[in-house]
Amino acid sequence: MSEKFDVIIVGAGPAGSAAAYSLAKMGFNVLMIERGKYPGAKNVMGGRMYAYALNRLIPEFWKEAPIERKVTREKLTLQGEKASFTLDFMDEELGEPPNSYTILRGKFDQWFAGKAVEAGATLVSSIRVDDLIWENNRITGIVAGTDRIQANVVIAADGAVSLLSEKAGLKKFDVLQFALGIKEIIELPEKTIEERFNLASGEGAAQLFVGHCTKGIPGGGFIYTNKTSLSVGIVVYINSLIEKKIESHELIREFNTDPAVAALIEGGKILEYSAHVIPETSRSELFTDGMLVAGDAGGLIVNNGITLRGIDMAIASGVAAAEAVKKAAQENDFSKQSLSYYEELLKRDFVLQDKETFKKAPEFLQNERLYTLYPEFVCRLFHRLVLVDGPKKRAFDELLEESKGNRIQMFLDMVRGMRSL
Ligand SMILES: Cc1cc2nc3c(=O)[nH]c(=O)nc-3n(C[C@H](O)[C@H](O)[C@H](O)COP(=O)(O)OP(=O)(O)OC[C@H]3O[C@@H](n4cnc5c(N)ncnc54)[C@H](O)[C@@H]3O)c2cc1C
Repeated sequence: MSEKFDVIIVGAGPAGSAAAYSLAKMGFNVLMIERGKYPGAKNVMGGRMYAYALNRLIPEFWKEAPIERKVTREKLTLQGEKASFTLDFMDEELGEPPNSYTILRGKFDQWFAGKAVEAGATLVSSIRVDDLIWENNRITGIVAGTDRIQANVVIAADGAVSLLSEKAGLKKFDVLQFALGIKEIIELPEKTIEERFNLASGEGAAQLFVGHCTKGIPGGGFIYTNKTSLSVGIVVYINSLIEKKIESHELIREFNTDPAVAALIEGGKILEYSAHVIPETSRSELFTDGMLVAGDAGGLIVNNGITLRGIDMAIASGVAAAEAVKKAAQENDFSKQSLSYYEELLKRDFVLQDKETFKKAPEFLQNERLYTLYPEFVCRLFHRLVLVDGPKKRAFDELLEESKGNRIQMFLDMVRGMRSL
């Protein structure tokens, strides 16, 4: 291919498609390159997308996008060794306007990339970008096999293990700060899903599991309800996994056999198994001469233990990258200095604001007591409260009794938690 494009976007995930859609609508000549057979073919994700960012870009997208269920039920299960305690939060208002949807990436990514193509972008799939073209210390295109394609600017939206950011010489991530996500898609009849999760037709649930399921490794389990399947998996910190010498497939097997989980997936058929890394800290550099980095490639994910948000951050950063390119094109200046406007936009929007608000969360969430002491404590306390086998104590006295020996530690962790999450 010898044609020159205004912009080349590498990766047709949510970040790439958001950038391609926005730029094509602005009238730019955009090429989006995806290494998978089709967008979404190689993508892994827990399964829930917060709607806000996409709704800003494509208002009421849910009327046309292949969404699975709108999430109206949020559950948190704390797992002790022999007991579990579940908080069940049902809120119709979470569905109107929709706060989040479950999605399957194979379908969703194809639809989103299709919107970019409809807007005028060119998409080529099954092509892996291998390198960047440099001219006078500025990136001016990409190399894919024997093809060299030129552009004014390249947007690296190539996911967590961003080859292009490395090739551009941007500072590397610390791999030990990565989490590993392992996920299965388990098929079940629609009615069974609705009965098991107490859902009205079309509504969905998100259930998080903390405690015994990760064998003390910082992280947690999740189940998201799709129309006729469940997205089931765990996310754990890689450094602890290595330290404890535990195999990731062992963890998912044990998660699936935990009584609290087994009852929900019983009779289901595993359709898909996948694993992928999740960057927990962001890159300190998100742009250089001729290139911008969006989505996971820039580590733009926020995990505060309650919400794991990567897709909405990827979409918002893709849109900001497009805005920065527009300004650079108006000034005909694609230097690092000119493209630094991208960071300004991310700071103005929720992307870098939320990264800043929750910057202490990754470190706090690596505290092993959150996955051992506290879930066990809650289960044991409730065991004391509900068991009738003789004279009973008041609830507060049971609390004091159960927390004996750990109160100072608990207080300190609570204060750290309040500052981090
Ligand atoms: C197990 C798990 C659970 C998760 N759960 C959630 C969740 O519930 N909600 C949420 O919001 N986020 C979740 N995330 C995070 C979310 O998946 C990511 O934040 C999101 O996918 C980032 O989008 P992206 O476009 O930046 O990158 P990606 O989705 O990774 O897309 C990158 C694209 O680039 C392509 N590519 C890569 N290299 C090249 C190359 N050299 N040439 C051409 N193409 C290339 C890839 O094939 C891919 O299509 C989860 C992640 C994991 C692993």
